[in-house]
Amino acid sequence: MGTEDLHNGKESELEIVRIASEILNIGYVCNICLGRTFSKLLYGKTNEDKGKIVRDFIALLLDSGLNINVKMENFQEYNFRRLEKVQSNKSVCSVCENIFTEIIPKLVKEAIKKVRAYEFENFLVGTVLNKTLYEKDQMILKISPDYSESIKDEINRIVGKSVGEKTGKSVNYSDPQLQILVNLKKLKIEVKSKSLYIYGGYKKLVRGIPQTTWYCKRCKGKGCKKCNWRGKMYRSSVQQIIEKPLIKMTKGKKSSFHGSGREDIDVRCLDYRPFVIEIVDPKVRSIDLDKVKTEINRSKYVQVSDLKFASKEDVIAVKEAKNDKVYKAIVTFNKKLDKKELEKLSNIKSVRILQKTPIRVLHRRADLLRERVVKNVEYRILGKRRLELIIECDAGTYVKEFIHGDNGRTKPSIAEILQNNVRKIILDVIGIRK
Ligand SMILES: [Zn+2]
Ligand SMILES: [Zn+2]
Repeated sequence: MGTEDLHNGKESELEIVRIASEILNIGYVCNICLGRTFSKLLYGKTNEDKGKIVRDFIALLLDSGLNINVKMENFQEYNFRRLEKVQSNKSVCSVCENIFTEIIPKLVKEAIKKVRAYEFENFLVGTVLNKTLYEKDQMILKISPDYSESIKDEINRIVGKSVGEKTGKSVNYSDPQLQILVNLKKLKIEVKSKSLYIYGGYKKLVRGIPQTTWYCKRCKGKGCKKCNWRGKMYRSSVQQIIEKPLIKMTKGKKSSFHGSGREDIDVRCLDYRPFVIEIVDPKVRSIDLDKVKTEINRSKYVQVSDLKFASKEDVIAVKEAKNDKVYKAIVTFNKKLDKKELEKLSNIKSVRILQKTPIRVLHRRADLLRERVVKNVEYRILGKRRLELIIECDAGTYVKEFIHGDNGRTKPSIAEILQNNVRKIILDVIGIRK
C-alpha cells in the first residue's frame, strides 16, 4: 500500500500524515520536536502532548498495515498487535539532540541564578542557535511551513515561563528591562539589562579636562608608557566625575556621555550644560539621584544640577538641541589696541560669519563651510593689549576662530576687524540659552 490509499480521507488528514512521516523518517525524533511541527494546531496542549498524539496515531496506522515511510526506532515502546516489537536502545533526537531534556533545564537554572543579580520589573528571552540546530530547525520548518513553531520560539517560551514563575516578573516584548539570551553556541546564559539614562546639567569649573573620557590611543585604556599607565590622556573628565557615583550605585559596567555640545579642554563651562549619561548594564535601577548629585558636587572640577531619570530619546533631544551660547574671552593681542578701532566691535549685531572647519580639528572633521550668526559682542579694555569680550552666538560657532580668524578661514573675525593678530585667548562659556 502507498500513500494513494489515504486519498479517501480528508486533505488535512493526509497533510498531517505526510508531515509526521517526513519528520519520523529523519531518524529518532523526540515528542517535543515532532509536536512542534503541529504547534499551530489546537490550543491547550503542549508540543510534547501533540507529539505523543501524532506518534500514537501513526503507530495505529502502522499496526493497521498501512505502509508509511518512517524510521521504526521512533516506536520503541509500542506493543504492536501485528508488527514486531522494535528493539529498544537509548535514542538521541535527530533534531534537537535532546537539548530539551539535557541542556535547557540546566540553562533555565543558570538563567534564574543570573537574573538574581539584577533589579528588574520585566524581561524578555532570546535564543541564539548553534549551526546544527539552526539547519535542522530550517529543515523542520520546510517540512511543515504552516503549522511549525521555530525551535527558538519554543526555547524562549520554556525559559521565559520558568523565569517568570521563579521571579514573579513578567515578559515584556516591546521594552524589557532585562534581556536573557540563551546562547546555544556557547551553551550559556547571557543577561544584559537595559541602559539607565540620567539627564542633568553640568558646569566645568576647571580648564584642562575634556568632557568625555579620552582613552589612550596606543593602549586603548589598558595602560602603557605613553599614557603613564593611566590608560587615559587626561587626569580626569566631566564624564568620569559624573559616572563615578552612578556606576557605584547601579553596579553598571560603563557609561556613555552625551552633552548638548561640548567646550574645548581648555575652556571652562560656567553655566549648566544639558547632558544625558547612559549607564550600561546596571544591576540596580532605583537609585537616589539627590545622593548622586551630592556625591558629584563634592568635586572641585564639576558641578551638576537637575538630575532626573531619562530615556534613550532624550539623548537625541540633548544632542540635537541648538542652544545659543554666551562666551567670555580674555584676549591678548599682538599690537597695542586702538580705542577708535575698538568702536567697530559695537557694530557686531547679528552678523553672519562664514567658518571653514578650523585647522585644529581638520584632522578628524570634514572640511566644510558653515554659516553662523554672532548676535552680539561687548568689550571691556583690560590693558594695552588685552580685552575682555562677551560674545553671544549660535550653537556650534567656533568662537576661538571667530576671535583669531584662523588664517582667514573664519570671516569676518575680531582679529580681522581690529587688524590686530591674537596671541592668546582664555575662554569660558558663561551662558547656555535653554
Ligand atoms: Zn527533539
Ligand atoms: Zn596608554
